[in-house]
Amino acid sequence: MSSKQLDAVVVGAGFAGLYMLHLLRQAGLAVKGLERADDVGGTWYWNRYPGCRCDVESIEYCYQFSDELQHDWAWTERYAAQPEILAYAQRVAERFHLRELIQFETQVERARYNEAACRWHVTTGSGEEFDTRFLIMATGCLSTANTPDFAGLGDFSGRTYHTGLWPRQGVDFSGRRVGVIGTGSSAIQSIPHIAAQAAELTVFQRTANFSIPAQNRPVDPQEVARVKADYADYRRRARLQPAAFGPDYPRHADSVLEATPAQRQQRFEAHWQLGGFMFLGAFGDLHQSEEANWHAAEFVRNKIRATVQDPATAELLCPDGIIGCKRLCADTGYFETYNRDNVRLVDVSKHPIELFNATGLVTGGREFEFDDVVFATGFDAMTGSLLRMDIQGENGLSLNEKWASGPRTYLGLMTAGFPNLFTMTGPGSPSVLANMVTGVEQHAEYIADMIRWLRGQGAGGVKAQPEAEDNWVQTVNTRSEQTLYPRCNSWYLGANVPGKPRVFMPYIGFPDYEATLQTIREDNYPGFTPLA
Ligand code: FAD
Ligand code: NAP
Repeated sequence: MSSKQLDAVVVGAGFAGLYMLHLLRQAGLAVKGLERADDVGGTWYWNRYPGCRCDVESIEYCYQFSDELQHDWAWTERYAAQPEILAYAQRVAERFHLRELIQFETQVERARYNEAACRWHVTTGSGEEFDTRFLIMATGCLSTANTPDFAGLGDFSGRTYHTGLWPRQGVDFSGRRVGVIGTGSSAIQSIPHIAAQAAELTVFQRTANFSIPAQNRPVDPQEVARVKADYADYRRRARLQPAAFGPDYPRHADSVLEATPAQRQQRFEAHWQLGGFMFLGAFGDLHQSEEANWHAAEFVRNKIRATVQDPATAELLCPDGIIGCKRLCADTGYFETYNRDNVRLVDVSKHPIELFNATGLVTGGREFEFDDVVFATGFDAMTGSLLRMDIQGENGLSLNEKWASGPRTYLGLMTAGFPNLFTMTGPGSPSVLANMVTGVEQHAEYIADMIRWLRGQGAGGVKAQPEAEDNWVQTVNTRSEQTLYPRCNSWYLGANVPGKPRVFMPYIGFPDYEATLQTIREDNYPGFTPLA
């Protein structure tokens, strides 16, 4: 086979692409990775903003497929910072000789399915072409930065940055007047660091956000030794959790509505001290009942009021929505930052940012001047990277046409009409609602197993059946409707990107999804049709 005639092309070299390449090479396929960056790491390559770190504990936010790797790698902090996670991805690439499979600085722009040959024709930005049987999109859920189309942005004469496209050499904000737009996870992590360096920092907040102190700290060697003594069991138990992490943390099933005020306070305080996501394990009905959820939200609002000295700023920072239906943020010193003299908060909820000019921006008739602006405005999540490629399946159907009213998949792995095209952690899978390293391993192993099964019976490929897809889309929708998730304007729903269809994209429930995948595999993949 020539280097352009392949069994499989894997697009993306983040955690998903790296493991997929490893497994497909092991299965004996001629495989190539195409990655637009000049190195591996994905999210952790691109998001180099100050303060960037994971919010799933590092002992779990890593691969579990290799015992040796798990035992050899030692994390330094409970929540690893971006440079350490990037170094880990690089180590994995070296240890498993993956770089030799990847062509870097190569952006995939187009893919066309050839029905007669049962193969994909892939075209890159430089016009290079590849011919492959299987095309696997490991392109990430949070990999297409979203910068709102602000009027006059091109007129701004200062420096601009997006947290998800941060310069490799870092940014020095010393002595500068900085504006940060957004108060999501990326902003909440970076604001304390930018504030500590800049002369002045102005934060533009459209929606106040819930954030719980991460309670980050150096890892405790004894704790690590305990987990590593029986890592397999720890990982097994983690996969039984709703979000595939934290098996040893308490998750209470009782209702907050049945607790006394003192019991509530005590339980919420204990979970606040556990940090980050563990806060939502305080009671069993926080995701289901708005009344129950209010108690958790109010507890956090009172923490904000107790932290931020200026009462007006504190009230502006208090979110009025449902806690946990947008991705919960984990911070280190976020709310405290508003007690600094060089930091101010500007509410743009009622008066959106009107325009940029040479010196800054205008909102509500007020003008703000800056040297630098940081867009912490998030991503075109889950579908953005897929739909930015021009993908055409059977009968010339484009993915953009097919997903015009929202993404439709069977199990988040395939979409009907696009044979031999797999989406890793695609919409319709738990993806962003679970430990994503576990999610990408799950999909990589499933795809590799399915390809082995197809090859075992001499099949040239596979496609998802439309009825199986319809049923799965219904299942995903029903699951989300049973929760409070659809009630917020979150990126899970595409609500952060103007014009994007409002559809809840991930599947809620990692453990039963895993059980479903297993049953389907054991039954010889119902819902998938092998191709001759
Ligand atoms: P990515 O890491 O996004 O990799 C996708 C790769 O595909 C990128 O390198 C991109 O350049 C490449 N690509 C995309 N399109 C093309 C194209 N057309 N041609 C060529 N290459 C292309 N998840 C957690 O579970 N826990 C966390 O704590 C956590 N923290 C996060 C923090 C930040 C700042 C962000 C942005 C996300 C975080 N996530 C977290 C989610 C994170 O994206 C996943 O955990 C994980 O890194 C995803 O890996 P991936 O390989 O699927 O995708
Ligand atoms: P995000 O959560 O989507 O936040 C974007 C912010 O920008 C929001 O506050 C949003 O306001 C604001 N915004 C967008 N458009 C705006 C406009 N036109 N005017 C004013 N404000 C605007 O994005 P993110 O912070 O980059 O995080 C995305 C996801 O990445 C996270 O949810 C998480 O999954 C992952 N992440 C994780 C970590 C971590 O802790 N490990 C860190 C960073 C990112 P609205 O809320 O009003 O839309």
